[in-house]
Amino acid sequence: SPGPLSGVMRKALEAVCEALLQHQEELNMLDRAAGDGDCGNTHACAAKAIQEWLLGHQVPGCPGQLLSVLASLVQERMGGSSGALYSLFLAAAALPLMGQSDAASWAKAMHSGTEAMKRYGGAEPGDRTMLDALCPAVEELQKLSSSPPTVVMAVLQAAVERAKAGADSTKSLSAQAGRASYIAVEHLTQPDPGAVAVAAILRAVYEALCG
Ligand code: ADP
Ligand code: MG
Ligand code: MG
Repeated sequence: SPGPLSGVMRKALEAVCEALLQHQEELNMLDRAAGDGDCGNTHACAAKAIQEWLLGHQVPGCPGQLLSVLASLVQERMGGSSGALYSLFLAAAALPLMGQSDAASWAKAMHSGTEAMKRYGGAEPGDRTMLDALCPAVEELQKLSSSPPTVVMAVLQAAVERAKAGADSTKSLSAQAGRASYIAVEHLTQPDPGAVAVAAILRAVYEALCG
């Protein structure tokens, strides 16, 4: 049976898809300044693939199973560097959540996913990529491993804020990875689109769970 988590995860996923579709033009615009202009489209492709999947499937009660499904969907349908990187993130994040759904396992999952993205993508925080939003948020989420359940929402809120601050910080970073590394730093005045997308995704999850 799907269990109570199933409905919560469906709600969070629906919110993420809506947020990505709302940000499509903004992300394309940011990617036109530093890349090839399709970052909103790649994220919208992922959102539409997930929405389609949600229409025809019950969300599994096991979060690890859900993240595995998402890893395949994103791998097949998202495209771009971000499709490959999110697929690696989700496949690695799924493992600690097989048969586990406690806050500490989610924290571990986010950490494993980020490490996989760094390992395969070869970027580090400071390189003007989605890692600049993801890493500070994931660092905050590690507090879930030792926090009482009463502060889970406060940790999530702080993680969302750190992702936003991290995305904003990419405005003044020169790129070391991805297409933006071919652009001189004085021409980069806007934030990295992938980092902005990470912040939007985390905010959507937070608002679906707590809003
Ligand atoms: P593409 O560059 O193939 O067009 P997208 O436009 O979908 O892909 O995604 C671009 C985003 O991917 C960048 O804004 C950046 O945040 C992220 N990115 C690119 N390379 C890396 C990498 N090696 N590690 C992490 N994120 C990366
Ligand atoms: Mg692009
Ligand atoms: Mg592209």
